[in-house]
Amino acid sequence: MAYFKAYSHIGVHEEMLKDHVRTSTYRNAIMHHQDLISGKVVLDVGCGTGVLSIFCAFAGATRVYAVDASDISLQAMEIVRENELSDKVIVMHGRIEDVEIEEKVDVIISEWMGYMLLYESMLGSVIFARDKWLKPGGLILPSHASLYLAPITNSQRYQDSVYFWQDVYGIKMSSMIPLAKQCAFMEPSVETISGENVLTWPTVVAQVDCYTIQALELETITATFKYTSMLQAPLHGFAFWFDVEFNGPVRQKSKKQANQSLDAQNATPSNKKKKADVSIVLSTAPEDAPTHWQQTLLYLFEPIELKKDQNIEGSVTISQSQQHARFLNICLKYFTGDQWYVKESVMK
Ligand code: SAH
Repeated sequence: MAYFKAYSHIGVHEEMLKDHVRTSTYRNAIMHHQDLISGKVVLDVGCGTGVLSIFCAFAGATRVYAVDASDISLQAMEIVRENELSDKVIVMHGRIEDVEIEEKVDVIISEWMGYMLLYESMLGSVIFARDKWLKPGGLILPSHASLYLAPITNSQRYQDSVYFWQDVYGIKMSSMIPLAKQCAFMEPSVETISGENVLTWPTVVAQVDCYTIQALELETITATFKYTSMLQAPLHGFAFWFDVEFNGPVRQKSKKQANQSLDAQNATPSNKKKKADVSIVLSTAPEDAPTHWQQTLLYLFEPIELKKDQNIEGSVTISQSQQHARFLNICLKYFTGDQWYVKESVMK
């Protein structure tokens, strides 16, 4: 399968390992929960090079089942051997859906997040592993994930991709602009923006509790938004980003509580504050240190000039494509006071 072939190349693993924010936050989270890992059995869903399995072994795990369907697992076996951990870390080459493990596990660890959290995400496989192999009350790392959306301004990007064609070495090439916009803004783009591009507080589009989420809930996600721009600036598009939290099973929230806190976060710009009392967070927000996930941008074909305090309301629906399981369909509807716009795009 092409997907697993991609993970057999060294480059993707090198990029993930060199993403220091990602890898060191996982290591911190493992050490933070050492009391729940030491002397316990761990399952690493999609172990890649085995890095997270080895961190768990360092934290005192008795046994770690390190499972990966890609050929990188052959390398993981060598790495485990090189670190003299073959008695503790058992590398298995196969899909988590197919492998047979000899016992139930106390801990599941996985780095399953894709671009805008859900693109090519393997959360479905983590859910499968949880339901089949995790002991009741076991620990799942990460435990919670949130996907955010905010309106953004990015004149530089418009300059580079659109206005550039107005004057090319003194030659008018404005006739290229419609094509340039199609090419640059038709599909979502993964790029890094900064906190200065963001026009106001984000809304929470999805909240995932890894202890309780069901695969069906991921098929279609819809959220409404109402933003008030903090700046006078052109609205160029919307940005998605996510964070994941590493909480123990005791912090498990009921669905009702989760929904209440979702409403509260949507109503006020308080999600920053809320994060303060959460132990460990891996954030891919524009104002935080960049990661290999960057942010996912949806650009508008025509910018909208916003006044300070102007409202932007609408909705976003993210659904798994029926034709291609790994594609995401994104439908964005927005209104800034004169007319409704609809932007439909596919993340391929
Ligand atoms: N845990 C490693 C690699 C994360 S990348 C790290 O943190 O560096 C995700 C890995 O999951 C890839 O190597 C991919 O091949 C594997 N994977 C994805 N879906 C899987 C499945 N259903 N069963 C087994 N492995 C899977």
